[in-house]
Amino acid sequence: MTALPPSEVCFDDELFMGLRLGYGEAFLKVTRQCNNRCLFCCDRTFQDGHIFPRDRAIATLEEGRRHGLENVVFSGGEPTLHPEILSLLEAAGELGYRRISLITNGRYFAYREACRRAVRAGMTTAVITLLSDRPEIHDHLCGVPGAFAQSLRAVRNLVAMDPSLVSVVITVTRPVVAHLPRIVRFLHGLGVGGAALHRVAPLPWVAADPAVFFPPEIARQPLRHAIDLAQTLGLPLTIKNFPPAFLEGHEHLITESEEFFPEVRDTERRVGLFRSLVVPGQAAICQDLDCATCYRRPFCDYLRALARRWQTGDGDRILVDPQRCGPGALARVKDSDLPLALAGADIDALARFARERGWRDRVTHLDLEHPPGTSLETTFPLLRALAVRHVERLDASLAMNPLVTHEIRLNQHTHAWVATHLDLLKKRGDGAVLTLDPHERLRGAQAEEIDLRAFFRGLSAAGLTLVGLPPCLAPEAKHLPRPRVLEARVFDTEGAIDPLEVCHVFLRDGWLDKRAGCARCPQKNACDGLPVNTLIAFGYRQLRPPPTG
Ligand code: SF4
Ligand code: SF4
Repeated sequence: MTALPPSEVCFDDELFMGLRLGYGEAFLKVTRQCNNRCLFCCDRTFQDGHIFPRDRAIATLEEGRRHGLENVVFSGGEPTLHPEILSLLEAAGELGYRRISLITNGRYFAYREACRRAVRAGMTTAVITLLSDRPEIHDHLCGVPGAFAQSLRAVRNLVAMDPSLVSVVITVTRPVVAHLPRIVRFLHGLGVGGAALHRVAPLPWVAADPAVFFPPEIARQPLRHAIDLAQTLGLPLTIKNFPPAFLEGHEHLITESEEFFPEVRDTERRVGLFRSLVVPGQAAICQDLDCATCYRRPFCDYLRALARRWQTGDGDRILVDPQRCGPGALARVKDSDLPLALAGADIDALARFARERGWRDRVTHLDLEHPPGTSLETTFPLLRALAVRHVERLDASLAMNPLVTHEIRLNQHTHAWVATHLDLLKKRGDGAVLTLDPHERLRGAQAEEIDLRAFFRGLSAAGLTLVGLPPCLAPEAKHLPRPRVLEARVFDTEGAIDPLEVCHVFLRDGWLDKRAGCARCPQKNACDGLPVNTLIAFGYRQLRPPPTG
């Protein structure tokens, strides 16, 4: 099936379960109860004892198969407390799901017969959460004496049946963060099929407890040692909620950017956390938490800064994509006197859109997929720049629109053309510039973007003008800063900022990162780094900070 963007998710708000179409899985939270009482539980306030009816779960599973999904995840609360969990596993198998996973504290599987039954019913993976390799720490954090012994027995039972049946997630809290290498060795010793290290999520309903949460910097070294050790031992490991730059050299382990949107969406739907950050006069729902210990900080900082910039009109231009902007967004555009950029595939539709609103003379930029086949002078008399992602008709557009700066987005479709038209671009100077073409999804970045360092290594960049690219990629080129674009799509129908729309923009090109060594770079104040997805797809080593010492 075609991968859909994360926004295209059928989700049942009441049940917090549904289909993550963009991620290829059905996700069913089948209970609102748990037999652990974890100090940092993200579901605790929703645990009213509810058990979801089997027929609702089956209907969701059937819907998932109609969308071609082959993976299903049963979660909760604690899914094994659902009295019909075995029958739900069976139903998933009968409907044709191939990967059937349970996210569980594992205590149910302390009994061998329970393991056998679940596997017979169709379970292919149990994702068991451990909070430490030490019983006293695990039991303290999960609030149940003896829980560690049961969860550990569960892991051993399942490994004895088949190691690939069990994956262990370690929730990384303050008591364990310094001991990650030891924990990796422990998990390897258990013989599990895979493991994950997830930094604990600070949540509004959990007090900021310094005995649980920790500033990320103290994880940098233990995390790297743990990764190196896992590699040496051959233990498959994934990592979540740590700063991506900590995983430089191990970018394939970074899962944040793909999982960030669903998490923001779910948190927002539950408690309106992110909206509370941008509603004037309202205190943030998580105001008692320490942002320094929270992995969502880059997004929250971006969201708040964006709200301030809209309030003060602090931008070079507003970007309007008519397909993505409803009446609330268009009202905000009308109220502003900033220049406009229009984005879309159909130049005639954009011209009509601008004419109907009397915005023709506000349009200074166009963001198109393909260069137009005609002169744009009469349609948009004040047009200054045109960004394109493809090169068909680009020579013609450059000739027909000599006063318009052409911004060529570097990607799989344009890089070969650029490499063979360097002289033309240099002759045009600032009238033909190269810029990024970032993607919201990591998969998009991997498929469409290019390795920028490799690209610039092979050509002479003197005389080229680059926009928003780190100078170290092509030191001999002329560098211009990223424009400060305000995207109108971030407003909902009422004209209020919609954090989920902001999250799309953030994941595409608002989440920027650098390498640790960038702190030594003389260009650091003029350089924003690169989008996280670009760095994950092609490596942090694209960036070249000056050597130490
Ligand atoms: S970074 Fe955001 S989500 Fe985290 S504590 Fe601060 S405001 Fe809350
Ligand atoms: S700050 Fe880092 S990314 Fe930017 S130019 Fe310097 S080395 Fe490159």
